[in-house]
This record gives sequence, structure tokens and C-alpha cells, in this order.
Amino acid sequence: MERILILTMALLCNALLLLNPANIFAQTDLERVSVTERSDGNGHVIRFHLTQEADSFRVAHPEPDLIQLMIYSDQLNPDEFIRPAESEAVKNIEYHNNRMGFGVDIILNRDHFYKSVAYPDRNSSHLLIALERSTEAEVKKQNTGQNFIYWFDYQQHETTFELSFSDGDDAFMQLRNGQGVNVIVLDAGHGGRDPGALNRQLGIREKDITLAVALKVGEYINTYMPEVEVVYTRDDDTFIDLKDRGPIASRANGDLFVSIHANSVNNNTTAHGAEVYILGMARTASALGSMKRENSAANLGSGGPLQLTEEELLIYELANAGNMAVSERLASMIEDQFRTRAQRRSRGVKQAGFQVLWDLPMPAVLIELGFISNPNEARYMTSEYGQSILASAIFRAIRDFKLEHDRSIRTTSTASNE
Ligand SMILES: [Zn+2]
Repeated sequence: MERILILTMALLCNALLLLNPANIFAQTDLERVSVTERSDGNGHVIRFHLTQEADSFRVAHPEPDLIQLMIYSDQLNPDEFIRPAESEAVKNIEYHNNRMGFGVDIILNRDHFYKSVAYPDRNSSHLLIALERSTEAEVKKQNTGQNFIYWFDYQQHETTFELSFSDGDDAFMQLRNGQGVNVIVLDAGHGGRDPGALNRQLGIREKDITLAVALKVGEYINTYMPEVEVVYTRDDDTFIDLKDRGPIASRANGDLFVSIHANSVNNNTTAHGAEVYILGMARTASALGSMKRENSAANLGSGGPLQLTEEELLIYELANAGNMAVSERLASMIEDQFRTRAQRRSRGVKQAGFQVLWDLPMPAVLIELGFISNPNEARYMTSEYGQSILASAIFRAIRDFKLEHDRSIRTTSTASNE
């Protein structure tokens, strides 16, 4: 009897999964909101106990006593969540269920001043808001320029998705709004006087590989998806400053930005495999190494190297939460292609603070095709055969991503017409 029940439940779960073809949104429950004293005694931590990672989130701290958090997740069920008791910091929590997810107003006690930072917990699927004791002046400085989140907007336009978003979120909404993926920006890393990573023994330069693969991806798109426009940040061996690459993409009204690079590790000939990055915190040592190397190319241009603090990256993550969800989806599709079709060892999807992805108003990924420092991979990436396989893996991911998006747009518009 028990066995039958379990079987039925398993079937139900599968059915639910299948009903969500876009799979950008995962089902999530909010069980509890808790407030605890920080161990350093400098404030408090508000913890949102989510059963699964939220798709993305957005935070505003427009007034000293008001923090607003929007958790994006279309299947979020917050009705039964346990609220925290009134504490020295938090007076009350009000919530606003809406079609895009779940909004929270956190009302703070007025006799204290806290600076706030929101971030996902690295060890669980929880979201955290750290409150740090501060002065009235400091907190007001943090509040300056932060707009209120109007929950009314989320309810009002729920069928058309015409939400009032910051610039960063517009591209995401546009994609979901039926605009589709029409312009794809291909960014061949380095070029001209910036050779990128080098394998001196074999005389192989990163800039030649990235250009060859970017041009091949573009060729495939032009041939198999003629309705899509391809824009290159460079289509020959010229130097383009890292900080000029984003503006090229913005001017072209790009819907997706795909930056192509190759990796290298000093004095290591065995490291191998492809990596796909989205902009965010560098969470691993190898992500940090890759980030430092790619950003150092900026030294060759007029601007200095990008030095994003953890806080700036957090703010970026929050402001571009919508783009990040889309970027992450595209990144995982590319990763999947590398692993299954190109038979490449994939080192997974990672986050790091790449200057070239910084400030882009569209979903963006950065691909490290493989390691130039590994002779086998270096030869593979320089060969016509290797480049064709890598380019077709990237092309397939972009094609599948576009199909998935176009399908989800059709589903959305059908649902709202009924
Ligand atoms: Zn590079």
C-alpha cells in the first residue's frame, strides 16, 4: 500500500516537472523567517528559510526603517510561513504574494539604524539579510537613490508583465514579453595588441582561438537561424578595450551576450575542460584565478583593471537578478552541450566578476573553451575540427535557449489570452 502511494507521488512529481517546460522557475516554499543576533554583536541576520533556492531576488532599502525584498519564484507558497517574534531590530514583517513570487516589507524599529546587505546563503537555499549597526547619517546615505518597490505594480500588470523595473531587469522582461532572442552579440576575447593567454612552446595565442570560434558560431547562426541578427564586438584581429565591449552590445540592442575565451594555468599542463561563467561573486579559487587573468587585459586599455568589491558584486547581483536567472539558464545549456555533445570535460557553471560582463543590460555568459596551458587542449582548440565542435556546441545551446524562450513566450501569451 505504501509502495503504491510512493509510486503515485513520484508520477505526480514528474507530471509537475513536465508542466514547467521553461524550467527557469523551480518550486519553492518559504517555511520560516527568523531573526538572530550576529555573532560579532554588531547587528542581526534575517534569514528566509526557503526549501529551494529562489530563481532570483531584488532588494531595496529606501527608508531607514524599511527594507523590501522581492523573491522571484512562480511556484512559491508562503501562506503558512512562521514569522519571527518582535525583536530589537525587526518590528514587523508584511508580505505581498504576487504572480512573480513573493514580496516582503521588513519594518525596522525606529530607534536603531542598520545598514543592510542581502545575499544567498552559500550552505543552504536560504536568503539572508545582514543588518549592521550604523549611524543615522550612514544609513540615510545608503537609502539615497533607492526606489521603493511598489507591490501594486506586480498585481496590476500581472497579465502583461509591464512592471516598473530598473534598467537591468528590462532585458529579462523583454525576453519574457514576447520580444524573443533577436540579436546575439558574440564577443571574441582579446585581440590586436592583447594576445590573451599564450602557449609559448606551441606558439598558440588565445586571441586567435576566440576569434575563430566566435566567427564559426556566427556562421552557424546565420545559416540555421537566419531570422537572428549576429553582432560581433570584433571580427578581425583588432584590439578592443574591455570597457568598450558592453557599449557595443547595448548599442546593437543585444538580447544575449556571449563572450568567448580560453583558460590558462601557469606551470600546469594537465588542467583541462571548459567553464561557463555568469557575472557574480567568484565563489571558487579557480573562478577567482580566471577572473583576475581576464580582467588584467584591461591594463592594456585606457582604464585600469576592474576591482569590484564583494559589495559591488552583490549590488550588481541584486539589480540584475532577472538577467542573472536567464544568464544562468543559458550558461547551464552551454555547459550541457560541452559535456554531452562535444564530449568535453565540463568544469561547470561558475560565477565571477568579469569586467566584460559588468554593467551589461542583457543576459550574458563568458565561456572558457579549454586550457591553452594544456598542450592537448591547445592543439584541439587550434584545429579546424576542435573549433567546429566547440562552435557547434555553443550554437546548439543558443538555438535551444531561443526555442525554449520562444515556447515560453507563446505559453505565457496563450495563458493570458484565456
Ligand atoms: Zn581571455
